[in-house]
Amino acid sequence: YADGPAASTREVRLIGGPPVGAATLESRDVGAWFGDRLVLDAVSLLMPAREVTALIGPSGCGKSTFLRILNRMHELVPTASLAGEVLLDGQDIYADGTRAQQVRLRVGMVFQKPNPFPAMSIKDNVLAGLKLAGLKCDDKDALVEQSLERAGLWREVRDRLNAPGGALSGGQQQRLCIARSLAVRPNVLLMDEPCSALDPTSTRRVEQTIAEIGHEVTVVIVTHNMQQAQRVSDHCAFFLAAENEPGRVIEHGPTEKIFAEPDDPRTYDYVNGRF
Ligand code: ADP
Ligand code: MG
Repeated sequence: YADGPAASTREVRLIGGPPVGAATLESRDVGAWFGDRLVLDAVSLLMPAREVTALIGPSGCGKSTFLRILNRMHELVPTASLAGEVLLDGQDIYADGTRAQQVRLRVGMVFQKPNPFPAMSIKDNVLAGLKLAGLKCDDKDALVEQSLERAGLWREVRDRLNAPGGALSGGQQQRLCIARSLAVRPNVLLMDEPCSALDPTSTRRVEQTIAEIGHEVTVVIVTHNMQQAQRVSDHCAFFLAAENEPGRVIEHGPTEKIFAEPDDPRTYDYVNGRF
């Protein structure tokens, strides 16, 4: 990707935006219910700034629920309730007077299925998050270029910024969604199985992007792909729910340790495909 001039390095100013920069995210004793059913119990995790934390574990153990708690999307489910605390740079995102919208601006989310606005131009897709949040910036073209560059998509689309988002390949659409998330300058980016709908080549391209933005913001990624967890993450948390029990974090630590010498035999079995 050495071809063509580098993207502008000028810092674009967002007007009315939250503070820029990575932030440490911490959950303390988080519990989650749907109705009266406890699905997550006592999850305490530190997700350090500028590092990638992978959440791994079998389906149904509460990984997506946990991710949604981290940016206050859990409360969008009418039956959902919650215990514990989530701290973003030490501040409780559920504290009285803290608005969910403001939290979601600082803690962005990328989903499994790429969801750009298909009929909207690539450029407008990148700016869409900004619009929704009511933010302005002092140079839209520079922000579009910078966001696409950070998402590793700039060189592929620079000549067709007015083409519809839906015209891109699946992997490009996912990177467009990453660019849209990055345009509002979140401190944290949450990703729920961002590559499960992609082919292997697109997956590797998105992984490169994740590794790069992992140096700039705090990334929390859910993945079922153990090679991917090893390739992109610095830390891993292994979630497991025994039958009729809520999901719990069995073990967390540096990715190398989780894969080479985990403390818990259940972690060993899971990362070695024995489940
Ligand atoms: P994972 O992402 O690890 O597969 P989830 O967080 O999606 O797990 O789900 C955890 C548990 O919560 C599952 O038993 C699931 O059926 C339940 N669950 C998830 N979403 C809802 C919901 N909106 N209403 C009721 N139960 C839910
Ligand atoms: Mg899930």
